[in-house]
Parts: sequence; structure tokens; C-alpha cells
Amino acid sequence: MAFQFSVLLTLPVLIVMTGWWSLTVLPLAWLYHWVSFALTGHMIISHDRRSWIPHEILYTIFFYTTYITPHFWGAQHIQHHKHRDTERDPQSPDYLGWRTFIAFYDERLTDKRTMVKHLRTTISQFYVKYYTWLLLPPVLLSILVPVDLFLMLYAVPASMSFTIATTSAWYSHQNYEPVERFPAWANWLFSGETRYHARHHDNWRYCEPNTEFLLRSSEIQGYNHPV
Ligand SMILES: [Zn+2]
Repeated sequence: MAFQFSVLLTLPVLIVMTGWWSLTVLPLAWLYHWVSFALTGHMIISHDRRSWIPHEILYTIFFYTTYITPHFWGAQHIQHHKHRDTERDPQSPDYLGWRTFIAFYDERLTDKRTMVKHLRTTISQFYVKYYTWLLLPPVLLSILVPVDLFLMLYAVPASMSFTIATTSAWYSHQNYEPVERFPAWANWLFSGETRYHARHHDNWRYCEPNTEFLLRSSEIQGYNHPV
């Protein structure tokens, strides 16, 4: 949450430092959201899909846009699927209101089976075991790289991409069900995910075509999701 809202401080600072052209962070934020959240956090970490991009790279990008461990993220999202739009949904805007928007994740609202499954994998163990050490590279980068470049290429677009993800979670459920129709701006901003969101809730491995392009083809028709 702290990282997500660093954007509120850093974006005005960036504009003052480097001028309005620094708003090129906007397409970068869109790109980060697509790769880090629509692809990695959602389809790979949460729904076990595979990409032709090495997963080590994707997990790294995901971690440095959220600072949340993959096992927790996956467990939170699967809990959302299993209990969507109920009191046990960790991101229901009907029950949690604005807390969905600020990524106020409650440890009790996580799917324990998903946590255990993730913690059997080397890659998820890595992020738990070395969490503190993994905070070091961005700290060093912020010291070694010119601050405007650090903000423009990383900190601002990455934190904005997290905000796009939480906005998507908040926006895509209304009146206790997944929304089926979205305005064009929302489909564009959320990498097309929203238009296909309701269908994704019927078939957990299904996603919109832009992200499917980054995934290996697999059997998604007739897929039975775990319960
Ligand atoms: Zn999902």
C-alpha cells in the first residue's frame, strides 16, 4: 500500500523536476500493469498458466511493482474467486468499499490451500526467504541512478501500475457480481481484462486475448477449477 501511493508524492515531484514530458510514465504504467498484473500476478501466479517469457523474469517484475510475496498474492486472489462478492471476498467493493482500492489485504481472507501449494515451489519460497534482502536492490538503485530516471522509469510507473490493478479490482465488481460491460476507456486502461472479466469467473484460466498472447496455449476449454 505504501509503495502504491508513493505515486501521489513522486509524480508531482517528477513533473517539477523534468517537465511535462515526464508524463511518458503513463504508457509505461500501462505496460507494467499488463505484464506484472494481468499476466504474472493474475494468470501465472494465481491461475497456474505458463508463459513463454521466463517466469524468473516475470516474478521479479511482479515483486518490484507490488513488494508482495507471490504466495500471498495468489492466495488472496484465489480466495476472491472462491468467495467472490461475499463477506469472505478480500476485494469485494460491496463489502470493503474504498479498502479494495488501496489494496488493504487481510491475512485472514486468503486461501490457505493456495498458500501451501505455492510454498512447495522454489520460486515462491525464494521470495519469502529473501524478502528483506530483495529490498536492497531498489534502495541501491535509488542512490546510484539519477533520481529523475529512477522515478520516471521505475518508481512512478510501477506504483501507478499497482493503482491500475486495484482500480480494476474495485471497478470490475458491482452489486455483488462481476460486471459484464465496460466503457472503452476501462477496457484500454485495464489491458482489456474487464470486458472478459465475467467470463473469467466462469473459467478461471480464461483471459482476454492481449494477455493470452503472452501465454503458452493450453487446454482452457472445459477446465475445471479447484474448489
Ligand atoms: Zn482470476
